[in-house]
Amino acid sequence: MADSWINETLYPDWGQRFAVRRELARVTSDFQDIVVFESSSHGNVLVLDGVIQITERDEFVYQEMLTHVPILAHGSAKNVLIIGAGDGGVLRRVLAHRGVTRAVMVEIDGEVIRLSKEFLPGIAGDAWNDPRAEVIVGDGIDYVRRAPDGAFDVIIVDSTDPIGVGEVLFTDEFYANCARVLSAEGLIVNQCGVPFMQADELRETSLRRRQFFPHVSAYVAAVPTYVGGFMTLGYASKGDAIGTQDAATIAERAERDGILGTTRYWSPEVHVASFALPPYIARELPK
Ligand code: SAM
Repeated sequence: MADSWINETLYPDWGQRFAVRRELARVTSDFQDIVVFESSSHGNVLVLDGVIQITERDEFVYQEMLTHVPILAHGSAKNVLIIGAGDGGVLRRVLAHRGVTRAVMVEIDGEVIRLSKEFLPGIAGDAWNDPRAEVIVGDGIDYVRRAPDGAFDVIIVDSTDPIGVGEVLFTDEFYANCARVLSAEGLIVNQCGVPFMQADELRETSLRRRQFFPHVSAYVAAVPTYVGGFMTLGYASKGDAIGTQDAATIAERAERDGILGTTRYWSPEVHVASFALPPYIARELPK
């Protein structure tokens, strides 16, 4: 039995805990409380305001699904905007696509980036130094307010939950600007929580986006440390790239982009199947 444990405080009456081998950092930034610790079961773990964000052991599930699904559903994405995602894992996966020529990442908290580089270096790898990457420390809502029309093909929002600093990324104003800065066939994905516990997050986000995007749906990924069953990733597109293409088309695109055979959770078949929602999740989406 370990001497020291960290309890997640996401829900007041239920949660997970980790045996702590060593605390690596404890910082109060201008935006949130940040803890990084070494666990005995999941490698190094990043915690923001008491909520588990990323563990070295299972980050591949969430990051692969949040990145490869939208880029391959789009089919010819060159310019990608990432909001949040300070650990750099989405940036690395975006840049793995040969067709991507520019990836702009806007993270509000420079301390998350600094601590991730120091204690979770494998998550981003060399992505920080890729000439196609532009990393901006700033608020995502300000960035999309000022970005020109049609500048991006795909927007990936890897935010904290809609409380505190991440709340603005779940507003009408944010989604309206995202729709404006996306190109004609552009699409946006964002994390919508675990619907078994946070059904409001998926329902409200989908309803909001319905005002600005003709096609709104969601897909699922089973991320072990986002407890409560499937995590939903919200999906909204301006054009016909609705994510549910057949596996052969997706495989062809992944081969062309250099992604096929490099992943541990995502595959062309998982990509297509992830849009099949259990009824308790599907009922949260607007008709
Ligand atoms: N993938 C994990 C998850 O979903 O739990 C980790 C997400 S974590 C890296 C989300 C990041 O979003 C945090 O680093 C946080 O600082 C950033 N963030 C929150 N609000 C933001 C905002 N308004 N603009 C830009 N980044 C923001």
